[in-house]
Amino acid sequence: MGSETPYFIPLNDAVEISKTRKIDLQSEIISIDKAHRRILSKPLHSLTNDPPFDNSAMDGFAVIYSETLKPPTILKVSTTVEAGNKFDNIINPGEAARIMTGAPIPKGADSIIPIELCEFDNENNTVKLLQESKPHFIRKKGENFSLNEILLSKGTYLTPEKISLCAAMGHGEVEVFKPLKVAIIPTGDELKLPGEELESGQIFESNTFGISSLISWLGHEPIRYPSVIDSIEELRKALNHASNNCDVIITSGGVSMGERDFVRKIMEQEGVIDFWRIKVRPGSPPLFGSWSNTPIFGLPGNPVSSHVVFRMLCAPWFRYLTHSSKPVENKIRVKLGEDIKTVPGFLTLRRVNLFELDDEIVATTKHHQGSGNIASIALGEALTLLGENHSGKRGEYCHVLIL
Ligand code: AMP
Ligand code: MG
Repeated sequence: MGSETPYFIPLNDAVEISKTRKIDLQSEIISIDKAHRRILSKPLHSLTNDPPFDNSAMDGFAVIYSETLKPPTILKVSTTVEAGNKFDNIINPGEAARIMTGAPIPKGADSIIPIELCEFDNENNTVKLLQESKPHFIRKKGENFSLNEILLSKGTYLTPEKISLCAAMGHGEVEVFKPLKVAIIPTGDELKLPGEELESGQIFESNTFGISSLISWLGHEPIRYPSVIDSIEELRKALNHASNNCDVIITSGGVSMGERDFVRKIMEQEGVIDFWRIKVRPGSPPLFGSWSNTPIFGLPGNPVSSHVVFRMLCAPWFRYLTHSSKPVENKIRVKLGEDIKTVPGFLTLRRVNLFELDDEIVATTKHHQGSGNIASIALGEALTLLGENHSGKRGEYCHVLIL
């Protein structure tokens, strides 16, 4: 690492530096059936008005409003209109049309009376209206959105609701960014796969499973590598394989100051480091740079640290590449229910649980806050965002990021 390499920098500076390594993503057209968590690569306009025609919001009778002002009103039932019927019904003065929810409004009608406010006379084929009809029970053509209106911008992250919106706009296929292939490489002699037998001195490898899920959550393709032992040669092999086969590399472990922190060492000797260490707690050791021109994030090995660094540093970079602000990290303002230890000059990310008290949301820590305790983030509900201007004292307000 050169002496000019940014070292121990604020999170925001780190995010900005990471953005200087950009990847131009390709696009592809996919069925909306497969579009969950994908990101639109161009804006999407509606192919229809919604609704496409005036239709009834209720099961009832379509009538002429001015004829219903003095209830009870008796009208002849001239026709029945069902959802899916063509738009070719007409009613004349003195008439009503039996109508179902979603059915087109017959010509001549300008209001609907719900079925429960009527008495139908089967014998005479008439209906008695017990009240005035309601003009607002008609859903007007285009009242939701109109033909050619752009409802989803480039960079939109497709949630289940947005996928239904794509369909309602008439799109069975959408153009989305091709997912990035992201290599996720765990490092450490002590790591064993979950499901295997632990021997003395070993722990289960947990980081890359969560990081892999976070990559899928962001709409990309995780490729989880087997653990690499603490050896420069083995690490070099894994990094070369990853840079030849993937677009981005994420490593876990081995980036601190220790003798056996080989990711940092090999990056210093053979890679390019854009910055090393950031002012967040937990999670200060990460590095970012490139290995054979492939962007690489070196995440800390401590399980909580690897997760928080991903959320705070990697996720903004991935979103930047896809022009997306989504999924937005949901942040809310809470009151601290206890003193929370902050570190001057650092962004403090404690794992807290939330509850409501006197119309306020209060945050307290519930689980041991060690950066090795994955349960604290798995069972916690939010991360505190305690920065320079916070004391961390009980009663203070701060924002938290919802997990
Ligand atoms: P390191 O950053 O390699 O010094 O690791 C810091 C701590 O995180 C050590 O206690 C490691 O055993 C632990 N650790 C490293 N990698 C993983 C992993 N993939 N899953 C769970 N714990 C890990
Ligand atoms: Mg290690």
